[in-house]
Amino acid sequence: MSLDLRVGIGYDSHRLVDGRRLILGGVEIPFEKGLSGHSDGDILFHALTDALLGAMGLGDIGQYFPPSDPQWKDADSAIFLARTRRLLEDNGYRIVNVDTVIGLERPKIGPYYNVIRKRIADVLGIEMGRVGLKGKTAEGLGPVGEGLSAEAHVVALVERIEEQAILREKHGRSHVQYRRV
Ligand SMILES: [Zn+2]
Repeated sequence: MSLDLRVGIGYDSHRLVDGRRLILGGVEIPFEKGLSGHSDGDILFHALTDALLGAMGLGDIGQYFPPSDPQWKDADSAIFLARTRRLLEDNGYRIVNVDTVIGLERPKIGPYYNVIRKRIADVLGIEMGRVGLKGKTAEGLGPVGEGLSAEAHVVALVERIEEQAILREKHGRSHVQYRRV
């Protein structure tokens, strides 16, 4: 049987503001500012969610978890990623690997490198070796460089491992829609 591989890309950017916690990849990093946003502002989890949804051709994070929905106020963004993982599994996919870049001038994320990778791996149910992470500064240029915002870039590779026919048997239909829990 031939491989059925799909790639997805995700990007997110939020403002760095006073009075918020800085949470990246589900890990709180001590800093004087944090990421704004309706949820916890975790750009890395948001970009990961978008990359995985994109790889499946199933839309984007805003369609599933709209910021207008009050239930997502200050929500732990791990919920978005965990539900996307379930959507992947329900639709017969497995994650091959994800690779990520965080654009952030300060603080340095080096000390949290493996903690963040482990957290991503745990939420996605994959080994840490399948999670890439790089921190980049913008050398003082642009909103990231000026410390006004942070951004995340993600690519995700997934493989479809279950045929439509098997899914139809399991779920009664070929395409499993997102369902709330
Ligand atoms: Zn976001």
